[in-house]
This record gives sequence, structure tokens and C-alpha cells, in this order.
Amino acid sequence: MAGEAQDDCLFCKIVAGQVPATVVRETDTTVAFRDINPQAPTHVLVIPKAHYKDAAALAAGAPELAADVLRETRAVADEEKLESYRTVFNTGAGAGQTVWHAHAHVLGGRGLQWPPG
Ligand code: IMP
Repeated sequence: MAGEAQDDCLFCKIVAGQVPATVVRETDTTVAFRDINPQAPTHVLVIPKAHYKDAAALAAGAPELAADVLRETRAVADEEKLESYRTVFNTGAGAGQTVWHAHAHVLGGRGLQWPPG
């Protein structure tokens, strides 16, 4: 069923506490934790606790939950005292998605170039 935890999903395991993570924020519906391979001084991932394979599936299947994730990206930026930051949803392998549980990257703390690679 849409949103159900998947046994083979790394981020579902983080939600369940079965894989350790440096959690910076948690709400009833979301978790934010530091990326294990940071690309900027602040690199935090915000995920819905429910499993959706990517941002497109999340937006289509649970738009209010997508809004929760987006709201949490702002909360992370505030807590990290970021004046500027980038929010990224890699969607699909060609865009660089490697973990198939929807997540927003919050990147900041250094200058960020545009266009991205
Ligand atoms: P994607 O490439 O957009 O799917 O982003 C997945 C992100 O998850 C990458 O930036 C990885 O460094 C990060 N990542 C993978 N495994 C872990 C973990 O166990 N803890 C925290 N971050 C992870």
C-alpha cells in the first residue's frame, strides 16, 4: 500500500531506528538527519516517515505530506542559521537519485554554483 514501510529501504530503516543517523529534527510525519557524505557545511536530508519512492510519487500520493517535508526544509535552514540554501529533490537515476525513498537535500554554508552538474 502507498506509504507503507519497505523492508529493503535504508531510509525506512532510519525512520524505524534500525540504522543510526544524526537526527537534527523530527516531527510526527518527517525526520531530518545529516547526510553521511556531506557536499556542503550543512547537508541535511528531510524525509517523510511514510515510504514514497521519490518526490513525484510523494507529491501525487500525499500532497500534504510533501508540504510537511518542504516546511521542514525551511525549519532546518533556520536552525542551521542559513541565509541562503538550496533545496534539491533528485528524482530518477538520471538526476542522481540513489536512495528510493523521497528526500529533500538541504545544502548551505558555502557558495553554491548554478547550473548544478
Ligand atoms: P540521492 O542521491 O539524491 O538519492 O541522495 C541520497 C543521499 O543519501 C546521498 O547524498 C547519500 O550520501 C545519503 N546517504 C546514503 N546513505 C545514508 C545514510 O545511511 N545516512 C545518511 N545519509 C545517507
